[in-house]
Amino acid sequence: MTVLVTGGAGYIGSHMVWKLLDAGERVIVLDRLSTGFDWAVPAEAKLVVGDIGDQDLVETLLGENEIKSVFHFAGSVVVPDSVSDPLSYYLNNTVKSRTLIEACVHQGVSEFIFSSTAAVYGTPAEAIPVKEEAELRPESPYGTSKLMTELMLRDVAAAHPLHYACLRYFNVAGADPLGRTGQSTPKATHLIKAACEAALSKRPEMRVFGTDYPTPDGTCIRDYIHITDLIEAHYLALQHLRNEGGNLIANCGYGHGLSVFEVIDMVKQVSGLDFDVVLSDRRAGDAVSVVADSSLIKSQLGWQPGHDNLQEIVTHALAWEAALERRNNKT
Ligand code: UDP
Repeated sequence: MTVLVTGGAGYIGSHMVWKLLDAGERVIVLDRLSTGFDWAVPAEAKLVVGDIGDQDLVETLLGENEIKSVFHFAGSVVVPDSVSDPLSYYLNNTVKSRTLIEACVHQGVSEFIFSSTAAVYGTPAEAIPVKEEAELRPESPYGTSKLMTELMLRDVAAAHPLHYACLRYFNVAGADPLGRTGQSTPKATHLIKAACEAALSKRPEMRVFGTDYPTPDGTCIRDYIHITDLIEAHYLALQHLRNEGGNLIANCGYGHGLSVFEVIDMVKQVSGLDFDVVLSDRRAGDAVSVVADSSLIKSQLGWQPGHDNLQEIVTHALAWEAALERRNNKT
């Protein structure tokens, strides 16, 4: 069986491609390489450089290769950019997802696994950890653009023989433990990557956005999930849908949080390197604490995290950052 992975040249998508190949699946990657890299796609997978919004291309790929399963990672992911340029987020994440989904319906795709986000909850109003049935109040066009695609999938699955899983990611970090791929996007804004860059002197300093939050050390709390565990959840979701387990919307996180200072301390400890940490004002739009209730994915998919360990996440992120530096110095 051949599986289509949109955005398979990007951070999360490229890890998915490796997992699928390791599991013996044939893989076609559709990626327009706007933020991904052709070298991130393993030679054993076929890379098609193109846009998910090109319906003819997608339908041809699906039809000619008799693809029944699609992982959809392609999209725009920078929350502040979505605030300054909402229409491009609604185009990339919503409108083009609609085109992709239509192509899937026309070509009889039966399993569709969508890369969603905890941003659909906005600032969790009630209980932390947040459950899937919590109120959905995205606070950025990014979160809304992803939620709209979730809703389209719900309605399409009710009308057509397509089954779907929406996996709502909390803070994804780390890299392939075998060092085959990792987070390679330049100008990183995410905490763990930024701290690793600071440790390797790729940036002069690390900034902490806000130290006056109502948390034990005053910095924000997030639920950081190792990419390997996130990818395992996707693979289990595919099997669940193939076995007619039913549509699924599930959180992907560990159920406990870590502060910004805890993360920075771990990066210093693992790297053995010190770097400047500048205490800055709060960053607009940051919620105090975002932690997943992960009981649903555990009970529905039998998912058990194997890498729930900040030291391991940071070790793999640092190893990848160093490998990336060697690669970039060569080219
Ligand atoms: N953060 C920080 N300095 C950075 C990047 C992030 O202090 O250079 C903080 C950010 O304010 C938030 C947490 O780290 O409280 C996680 O931010 P990130 O951008 O990694 O993920 P988000 O939760 O915003 O999706």
